[in-house]
Amino acid sequence: MTPVDPSKLVAELALGWVDPACPLCGGRLREQLLGGEVCPPGGKPQKVFLVRCQSCDYAYTAPRPGEEIIGSFYTSDYKPHQNPPASLAGVPNPSAGRLAAIDLRKGMLPFGDGRMLDFGCGSGSYLVRMKAKGWTVTGVDASAPMTQNLTAKGWEVYSGSLPNTALKGRQFELITMWQSLEHVPDPVGVLQAAFDLLTPGGRLIVAVPALDSWNFAAFGEDWLGVDFPLHLSHFTKKTLKETAQKAGVLVEEIGRLRHASWMRQSAMKACLRLGTKAPLWVRMLQNKTVSKVWAFWVHHVLGRSDCLLLKGSKPK
Ligand SMILES: [Zn+2]
Repeated sequence: MTPVDPSKLVAELALGWVDPACPLCGGRLREQLLGGEVCPPGGKPQKVFLVRCQSCDYAYTAPRPGEEIIGSFYTSDYKPHQNPPASLAGVPNPSAGRLAAIDLRKGMLPFGDGRMLDFGCGSGSYLVRMKAKGWTVTGVDASAPMTQNLTAKGWEVYSGSLPNTALKGRQFELITMWQSLEHVPDPVGVLQAAFDLLTPGGRLIVAVPALDSWNFAAFGEDWLGVDFPLHLSHFTKKTLKETAQKAGVLVEEIGRLRHASWMRQSAMKACLRLGTKAPLWVRMLQNKTVSKVWAFWVHHVLGRSDCLLLKGSKPK
C-alpha cells in the first residue's frame, strides 16, 4: 500500500474540496487503497483516493467535495432519485417490492404500527411501503427537490441531514438508513442524532455497501460501492460496528444482504472501462442469471456479499 502524504493532497485541492481527518478517530495517517479522478459538471478534474486510517482501519474518500459543492455531483440522472413513489397512485413500486422481499427473507423488521423515520428517504419508496404496513412515517433527505416533491404530495419529509431542527423533541420507535450513511461527512454525528431520536428500546437499521466483500476485492474501482465522490465512507463489519458504538448504539447484529443488480452493474462498469480487455468472468457477470447465481454463491457460501446490514437499538 502506498502511504498518502496528507499535505500533498491538500496542495492539490480544487475550490470547495476538503481533506478531512479520519471521521472515526480523528487520525491523520492513512494508506491508499485506490485512486481515481472525478470531474464536477463544468468543473476541473480532481484526484480522489479511497484511504484507510492506519490507527482504526476506517476507510473513507479523501479529498472529497465539501458541503457547499457536493450537491452538484447529484446530477438529475442520479438513480435513487429516479423512482418516484408510484404506489402513491396505487401502482406497486418495484423498489418497495424488492425491500418487502428482503424483509421477508431476513425477518428483520417489526411489523405493526409505530413511528418510523427514514433517513435518506430519496423518492420516498420506503415511506410508502411502511405506511402501508401501518407505520406513521417521516422522512429526511439531503435533496431539496426530492423533499419538496414529497411534501407537496402530503408526506412529512424534511430537507437536510441529522441532527435536524424540524425533528426537535420528536421520538421514533424505528429509524432506518438504507444506503445513506456512506453519503454523510460525519457518520458518528448522524448516528448520535438518530440515537437521540429513538425511544428507549427503539430500533435502528443501517444498510451500507461492504468494503470487506468479494465484490470490492474482485472489481476494485469498478465496484458500485466505491462511487467516487458520493460515497464518503467505505465501511467494513468492524468499522460499522465501531462507528455505531461510538454513537451509543447497542449493536445487536451485523449481517449481510446480497444484491445481484450491484454485481451486474459493477461488471458493466468494468466492461465499459476495459472494453475488449475485460476478462471472461467479468463479461459473464453482466448476464442477469449468471449474476444472480454468483451473488447467491458469494453470499451463502463465501459469506462475503457486498451490503452490510446493522441491527441496533437504544437500551431501555
Ligand atoms: Zn481512524
